[in-house]
Amino acid sequence: MYDPRSNKAEEFIDDGEILETLAYAEKNKRNAALIDRIIEKAKLRKGLSHREAAVLLDCELEDKNEEIYELAKQIKKDFYGNRIVMFAPLYLSNYCINSCVYCPYHIKNKHIARKKLTQEEIRREVIALQDMGHKRLALETGEDPVNNPIEYVLESIETIYGIKHKNGAIRRVNVNIAATTVENYRRLKDAGIGTYILFQETYHKKSYETLHPAGPKHDYAYHTEAMDRAMEGGIDDVGLGVLFGLEMYRYEFAGLLMHAEHLEAVHGVGPHTISVPRIRHADDIDPSAFDNSIDDDIFAKLVACIRIAVPYTGMIVSTRESKKTRERVLQLGISQISGGSRTSVGGYVEEESEEENSAQFDVIDNRPLDEVVKWLMQQEYIPSFCTACYREGRTGDRFMSLCKSGQIQNCCHPNALMTLKEYLCDYAKPDTRAIGDALIEKELAHIPSEKVRGIVVENLEKIGQGSRDFRF
Ligand code: SF4
Ligand code: SF4
Repeated sequence: MYDPRSNKAEEFIDDGEILETLAYAEKNKRNAALIDRIIEKAKLRKGLSHREAAVLLDCELEDKNEEIYELAKQIKKDFYGNRIVMFAPLYLSNYCINSCVYCPYHIKNKHIARKKLTQEEIRREVIALQDMGHKRLALETGEDPVNNPIEYVLESIETIYGIKHKNGAIRRVNVNIAATTVENYRRLKDAGIGTYILFQETYHKKSYETLHPAGPKHDYAYHTEAMDRAMEGGIDDVGLGVLFGLEMYRYEFAGLLMHAEHLEAVHGVGPHTISVPRIRHADDIDPSAFDNSIDDDIFAKLVACIRIAVPYTGMIVSTRESKKTRERVLQLGISQISGGSRTSVGGYVEEESEEENSAQFDVIDNRPLDEVVKWLMQQEYIPSFCTACYREGRTGDRFMSLCKSGQIQNCCHPNALMTLKEYLCDYAKPDTRAIGDALIEKELAHIPSEKVRGIVVENLEKIGQGSRDFRF
């Protein structure tokens, strides 16, 4: 029944295969010889199968777990250096006809404030985001063909790319909207989106149907096969994710990796990103009602094992996580984080009152972007506002082959330094700027090619004099 090449959700996410994988992992969680072999394979940095990765996730041998964490840290360093890509979510509308029981935007919630931004309101939100220093957004809307039809999303993308305010520009718009048709994915591609992100929420079909009792999202197969339609529509960067806490994390982990294997098998390119949200408190939602919640240690292990299993896939953590947790998982594999986020509709321009709350979840890390940037740099990370790949047409398999050959390192590091310099010149507070300038100076030495280093030094100088948007 299990077939990663199948186009049927229930065959590439086969329940029987997941259950066997979990039984295999459980049986081998103290099998040192097998765990050693898997770790040795992982050291080749070509990834692991879902079965192998599941054994590492379950591993109960302390010394082997130490090795797993060390390897995750090393792979993170080798593939992503000390760069962290920055982004922010932008909520366009919270009208929704679905009934997801874990989300306050579900149709039956009559007391949450329903809002939909007009194009003028989007302009104001985007200017606020540009004034913070953001260059990369993730658009979010509920599913509602009347209030948020695809035309509204397309128009909003055009508005966003068109806003040039001072030195600000949104250079990459990622989109997180409901599963849709090949035709609509094609239109999103033509509108110039970056990654199409759709969280599976849970791979467990029965739970999925219970958690989505009504509305179009109830259809497990349509939702699970969405990435295939997106790729058929020409979008080759897709972002997976599950909402940890809904189902057993071991089940979700295996499902997530099987989904990645399916995309690789059918389309020749795995997921561009994997997000790891955990369920949070929100209007109408009490996370303690979900009994599969995971603690910080399991969360860290999940991040480390995903990092090892799919080294080429970026990993995202949002402001759902605290500063402390983010600090921990950044080392283990996270390559992108949001900062200064508002999870309400229109929240960047206006703070909402309690009664007017339109937020999808409570933000735990609510520091302003500048503080997040400073905090990253104090830990020797380079906050990167780079969007170069997408703008140079390096997406999908072109992006992956660059990644796999290690060539991406020659672009990412210089681009991170140049976009950070833009941020420091245009938006940073004086103390952040001082820390950043010192960091850039130090990091220049880590550009191996003398020629590239020379170009970067020249460009940094030009950025200081007002020029913008250099990239490799
Ligand atoms: S998770 Fe998405 S589809 Fe479900 S209720 Fe919330 S906004 Fe609607
Ligand atoms: S060069 Fe490409 S992979 Fe590297 S940070 Fe920029 S956009 Fe990402």
